[in-house]
Amino acid sequence: MPINVEKLRQDFPILNRKINGKALVYFDNAASSQKPKQVVEAMMNYYYNNHANVHRGAHTLSVEATQMYEEAREKVAGFLNAPSSESVIFTRNTTEAMNLFAYSWGKRYLKAGDEVIINHAEHHANVVPWHLIAQETGIKIRAIRLKDDYRLDLEHFESLLNDKTKIVSIAHMSNVLGTINPIKYFADKAHEYSALMIVDGAQAAPHLKVDVQALAADFYAISGHKMLAPTGVGAFWGKAELLRSMPPFLGGGEMIRKVTIETSTYADIPMCFEAGTPNIAEAIGLGAAVDYLNNVGMENVLEHDVKLTNYALSKLKTLKGISLYGPEGDDRGGIISFNIDGVHPHDVATALDSEGIAIRAGHHCAQPLMKALNVQSTARASFYFYNTEAEVDIFINVLEKTRDFFGDFL
Ligand code: PLP
Repeated sequence: MPINVEKLRQDFPILNRKINGKALVYFDNAASSQKPKQVVEAMMNYYYNNHANVHRGAHTLSVEATQMYEEAREKVAGFLNAPSSESVIFTRNTTEAMNLFAYSWGKRYLKAGDEVIINHAEHHANVVPWHLIAQETGIKIRAIRLKDDYRLDLEHFESLLNDKTKIVSIAHMSNVLGTINPIKYFADKAHEYSALMIVDGAQAAPHLKVDVQALAADFYAISGHKMLAPTGVGAFWGKAELLRSMPPFLGGGEMIRKVTIETSTYADIPMCFEAGTPNIAEAIGLGAAVDYLNNVGMENVLEHDVKLTNYALSKLKTLKGISLYGPEGDDRGGIISFNIDGVHPHDVATALDSEGIAIRAGHHCAQPLMKALNVQSTARASFYFYNTEAEVDIFINVLEKTRDFFGDFL
């Protein structure tokens, strides 16, 4: 169903900003989305009326704060179609979730010679934690190649699977190429080898309906700030029995059952993975973001993003001197990486900013992918449901002018 973009935009005051005298065109959503009033107000309301520390007080405010925090957990569980909320752990972001898993599960169960499969397009959040664990355990990291059409080479993946494979860890959506990866297929194959399937959902969760059960995932990580919520909160879902088999990642208050000078025993999930005072207001903000997205409808969000991406691609393809990176088709979310041939992407981003357009330039925390694409860096435009075709037209127009301007110096 088409969404009423103009109406929804009224919920995002920042979209009325002028940047360098021009109306803001915010195309940096893959880095972080903007926040609707409803999310900010939910946090303000909590701070003005209900704030106290959670889980430990007998007084009214603490009970209210705990209830609001736990309601947010229920909302996130519903958003992911998790079978229960006890298996949703609040983290700071996807990065922390991936590290939690790699350290907790990895250090307990991985040993020298075991293998973890990732792919060449992974964000560093799904690469570096494995390096850290490899240094401690001697595991081997294998990476699925990309095909010429920028999709993952599934034949190569199947050739990497073997009895030493313990973990398959793949992003649901690439933050550079926009590819939506076939997670159910990866999970089924991983399970044939009794390996676990962990999914980096940082880019997918903001843009499409996630159903962790239908995906057959064992673990799924998300970042709130990319899906309308504040910074400082994310979530890590795992199958309850697997989470219960993992040691805590951080120790301290909130996560214990009993502590003596000699030893500690730990609380049940999710508390055993939430040491210390959590980001209470941010979790409540994430709950409000989930409400907002549910009202818009995730199917509608994806439909809008794909339509806008295809519209932008159809225009970009007509421009000479522009290289595009990413697959063609509907298995691609609202992300377009590109370069103006011969021009540094930082210069492109700066030129666009002078006309009010926010895009990102760099390696996008995906240096192995940059190597595979044989580039140092790219520019990236990334859309959300509040972006419009009119904004794409402005972007294309300024991009064309930028290319012509730099072209004079090439
Ligand atoms: N994974 C992917 C695919 C991402 O795009 C990002 C952020 O851009 C991350 C992980 C890390 O997210 P965060 O910085 O919120 O932890």
